[in-house]
Amino acid sequence: MSSWDLQGKTAVVCGASQGIGFATAKLLAERGARVIALARNEDNLKSLIASLSKGPHKYFAVDLADTESLKKILPSLAQEQIHILVNNAGGPKGGPLLEASIEEFEAPLRAHLVAAHLLVQTVVPSMKASKYGRIVNIISTSVKNPIPGLGVSNTIRGAMANWSKTLAGELGPYGITVNNMLPGYIRTGRIESLMGSAAQKSGSTVDQVEEQWIKTIPAGRIGDPAEAAEGIAFLVSPAASYINGINLPVDGGRTPSL
Ligand code: NAD
Repeated sequence: MSSWDLQGKTAVVCGASQGIGFATAKLLAERGARVIALARNEDNLKSLIASLSKGPHKYFAVDLADTESLKKILPSLAQEQIHILVNNAGGPKGGPLLEASIEEFEAPLRAHLVAAHLLVQTVVPSMKASKYGRIVNIISTSVKNPIPGLGVSNTIRGAMANWSKTLAGELGPYGITVNNMLPGYIRTGRIESLMGSAAQKSGSTVDQVEEQWIKTIPAGRIGDPAEAAEGIAFLVSPAASYINGINLPVDGGRTPSL
């Protein structure tokens, strides 16, 4: 068994119905993991599960921002032997921080921080029992450099990163690591929608916005979800056993800080 191999591991992947979560579920299954996919859309989840290699995989259709619904599936997850948890949900809507209402913080806080916290509390007992745990949170490079115009998002991402770092210290002694993957510009529904709003605001076309954004990326292109998934697949693998409490940007070199 190579140290990238995930055979015998069960992975909970959140936000798995599209984008980076979808690519991650596919890659972890290819590497041998049994996947438990979480997202809101049951039809998308069904087709994801049908497309995965090996198995048996399963899914729960749940809105992570709906804490009461999430709580209903936790007892089933607690019955499973989980080795890997990938926390992920849709990005909060953009806009200047000063204009954000209190209500605008609430759903993203539940979908990201509250959901991740409840899921960690649910899966950690089985991770401790098997002395193997890998928790990866999909956050954003904004935890290193806040992104102008993404006020609520920057705030929630910062909270997630500090939550994650604190947990890394608490769970490290049990063979459990907690790390963050920070996507740069990755071609998914999220980036298409951010490009659309930027184009609208600046009166330019989406293609012009894309051209401008690409100029900020040393790699000279927007990333592919599969490339973001590779970063996650490494962090959850046995090979990454001594990597704990880090932020891994997958951004083609765009983030200007270390
Ligand atoms: P995406 O919008 O394409 O996919 C998000 C996934 O989460 C989908 O499967 C969606 O159905 C699911 N989801 C959203 N809200 C949910 C909820 N309340 N409950 C359950 N499932 C929910 O996003 P993506 O591009 O794959 O990005 C993943 C994360 O990384 C997001 O938080 C995003 O903001 C962040 N991010 C993405 C980029 C990028 O370039 N794509 C850059 C920086 C940060």
